[in-house]
Amino acid sequence: MKKTKLSERYHQKAKQIIPGGVNSPARAFLSVGGVPRYIKSAKGPFIKDIDGNKYIDYVMSWGPMILGHTHKNIRLAVQKALKSGASFGAPTVAEYELARLVKSIYPAMQKLRFVNSGTEAVMSALRLARGHTGRDMILKFDGCYHGHCDSLLVAAGSGAQTLGVPNSKGVPADLARLTLTARFNDEKDVERIFKCHPDSIAAVILEPVIGNMGLIKPREGFLEFLRAITRKHGTLLIFDEVMTGFRLAPGGACELYGVSPDIVTLGKIIGGGLPIGCYGGSLDIMKNVAPEGGVYQAGTLSGNPLAVAAGIAMLRTLIKNKDKIYPALEEKGKFLEESMNAIIKRRGEKIFVNRKGSMFTIFFTSEEPVCADCAKKSDTAKFSKFFHEMLNRGVYMAPSQFEANFISYAHDRQCLDKTVKAFSEALEAL
Ligand SMILES: *Cc1c(COP(=O)(O)O)cnc(C)c1O
Repeated sequence: MKKTKLSERYHQKAKQIIPGGVNSPARAFLSVGGVPRYIKSAKGPFIKDIDGNKYIDYVMSWGPMILGHTHKNIRLAVQKALKSGASFGAPTVAEYELARLVKSIYPAMQKLRFVNSGTEAVMSALRLARGHTGRDMILKFDGCYHGHCDSLLVAAGSGAQTLGVPNSKGVPADLARLTLTARFNDEKDVERIFKCHPDSIAAVILEPVIGNMGLIKPREGFLEFLRAITRKHGTLLIFDEVMTGFRLAPGGACELYGVSPDIVTLGKIIGGGLPIGCYGGSLDIMKNVAPEGGVYQAGTLSGNPLAVAAGIAMLRTLIKNKDKIYPALEEKGKFLEESMNAIIKRRGEKIFVNRKGSMFTIFFTSEEPVCADCAKKSDTAKFSKFFHEMLNRGVYMAPSQFEANFISYAHDRQCLDKTVKAFSEALEAL
């Protein structure tokens, strides 16, 4: 067992003044139990907690740290920017530079706007889609997470109309009714919903590869199907690539699957670990955004110089070295997947390692999950035990069955070997 005395002490204290002791619920370890580790520092593929434990990290700040923690290029860029001032509330050349970098990789974003988080990007994209189409309804997929904006904290209601119901207190039922929910990878379900509401859906929004239900891949042709049916109904297609952008490929799922949505949302990696988000689309759609158009959206700290400097350093490094970095990430992912599969097979375990590039989830179920209902068949009690067996062996994985793990460019062969060894021992200990 790892020492957790200090984490435990501070968690007790923090809980007195911060809800659950955390500023984002998934950090609280609620679904796996135990003490959340209070982190002191991180470097490369490792994080250290205040009790002096060191872990191989597969959370990587939930995705942004694709180059590893405290990468030199990013650290130096932020230090340099800070010397010139942390925020001005006026335009800077750096914002233009970051916008140009994003646009060069994402041709679907002819114009784009920076905000401060993924949630904000999605919330703004929905308002834009509604403003552009003059329609109010949104179609989302069960299992996709798009941040905590009201319109998307909605679950499928009962009945043929599938009008949504709030899945958080405080979300107005009248607003939730405007959000429809379909099953991921289920074309018939999407067709059925469009039949009920042929010309009132402003946008279909999805994670083109789901990371937030654990990793779930789109079936072949599913994204193309969504592109076609949205076009037919005058509905905008929004790819929420906050997690997958610059992760699966530089141009994310858009590039990987060759499907071009109307609006893209980004976040996480494009801020290099600092808070940022971004949404963009064609000139025709983006002309609606204030001050050019009537869809209002603003932010005091939007385009913040430190976040933008980190983002530029991150994207420049990724783009310049993309022929080296992305094949290497695939190689690392493949190695982990194959090594784990060999152990699973030898032991006859009911475990499915689902992976795309450098994102993966170890599902405690024997079949590949293709939708939220399938993923929910996982043995979460067994996952929780597994999680702690890994943690005790110095491997920090996402603290929930329904989250993705992230491999960074800094995870070297030694890290991966240690992870495989821990995996084998953890299964033996279950
Ligand atoms: C993380 C995430 C968000 C929310 O971003 P925040 O920066 O946490 O607000 C939205 N969509 C997807 C797909 C995400 O993974």
